[in-house]
Amino acid sequence: MEHQLHIYNTLMRKKELFEPIAPPHVGMYVCGPTVYGDAHLGHARPAVSFDIVFRYLKHLGYKVRYVRNITDVGHLENDADDGEDKIQKKARIEQLEPMEVVKYFTDRYHQNMDALNVLHPSIEPTASGHIIEQIELIKKIVKNGYAYQSNGSLYFDVVKYNKKYNYGKLSGRRIEELKQNTRELAGQVEKKSSFDFALWKKADPKHIMHWPSPWSEGFPGWHLECSAMGRKYLGDTFDIHGGGMDLLFPHHESEIAQANAASSHDPVKYWMHNNMITINGQKMGKSLCNFITLYEVFNGTHALLTQAYNPMTIRFFILQAHYRSTLDFSNDALKAAEKGMARLFDAYHLLNELPVADNATVDVKVFEQKCYEALDDDFNTPVAIAHLFELSKIINQVNIRQQKLTKEDVYFLKYFLKTFLFDILGLQNVEQTDNSEIVVNLMQTILNIRKEAKIKKDFETADHIRNELANIHIVVKDTKEGPKWSFTK
Ligand code: ZN
Repeated sequence: MEHQLHIYNTLMRKKELFEPIAPPHVGMYVCGPTVYGDAHLGHARPAVSFDIVFRYLKHLGYKVRYVRNITDVGHLENDADDGEDKIQKKARIEQLEPMEVVKYFTDRYHQNMDALNVLHPSIEPTASGHIIEQIELIKKIVKNGYAYQSNGSLYFDVVKYNKKYNYGKLSGRRIEELKQNTRELAGQVEKKSSFDFALWKKADPKHIMHWPSPWSEGFPGWHLECSAMGRKYLGDTFDIHGGGMDLLFPHHESEIAQANAASSHDPVKYWMHNNMITINGQKMGKSLCNFITLYEVFNGTHALLTQAYNPMTIRFFILQAHYRSTLDFSNDALKAAEKGMARLFDAYHLLNELPVADNATVDVKVFEQKCYEALDDDFNTPVAIAHLFELSKIINQVNIRQQKLTKEDVYFLKYFLKTFLFDILGLQNVEQTDNSEIVVNLMQTILNIRKEAKIKKDFETADHIRNELANIHIVVKDTKEGPKWSFTK
């Protein structure tokens, strides 16, 4: 099948035909987490969205080098150049070494990503592991005259840069129109303009994470790490840079500025941004008490949830919206996603027992084309999923003999659905996951106890066991061959 993949490029503000710089190789960089707390729903969206990009590009035959960083130094509390380092603050409160905080939350982030079946990136560099590269990049910017020193810290001169280049080309902001917020914040007094951002900050005596540099004992600015690690692993100009829309300004805008200031050209061909998740229609935030961590969703321990959700339900829920649309999270929406995904898997399993005919009454091959067309159109997963729902309806109709498919059609569907659901959309069969050996053994034990109760005519206990299992969505049916159990959806 011929693929004409189109990607919406934030920089150009339109969809463009995807043409990698050096095919079949594709370089992709996505901003990773700052590891000072557990990942929440806001982390799941970019991870899953760019996992689809990664999986689909690989499926199309590209050799993708996917870099997703871990921010472990230099990201200050208010996302600007002031306040305390987020990781250092956590370390201070918990009385830990900062790298203990980093390791603990990186491990937990990885656990969450594995649960969501997000593929590991090809390289996962840390900011603290690339101080030398960051210092070298600053030196280039200084040499070209776009940085100035102030009290041992180094700032990027946005006003000077904007005279030659366009600071705001990605976000569409114009610095002339942005109100100069006066020097109300601590540390701003060091800057010539409030737009300027730190490349290197001199560490104050209380700061525990610091490194030597030609300018002062200090630490790198947050925007710098992605520029330094992107160019180290993907080159001066690479294909795709992704991240959440909240990173567009000033983070990605500043990455463009740093690259141009260092080497006089843009760093990235296609900029991709995923939209945000809202919770019951509201912006997610700690102050609104609707800040939901992934562990809370997987365990069902948040007040807004009535049950625990399988990580695959979260993945499917995210894929049901296009990555550039907002996505509203609610308990009801998750329940609907759970049901919808089960319908697709039920149809997939039905293929094993579907009646076949000599002639088909419906053309199912067209669904493959439709699903690929959807993904070729800027990774439109909701449209692809809508086609899959249509297909599952047909499979059900064949099952009750309202439609006919040939044996070859059924083979084709098995292969297509397996590829599309598991490899490309990255879903895992929830039923199979839950039917792990330990669950099967536990169920055997429980059903044996029930059997013994029945033999002793203790029907109260037998019914009690069955009802309790029903409460956790496991249904037991007594058949001639003995009790059979399954998950209900
Ligand atoms: Zn970044």
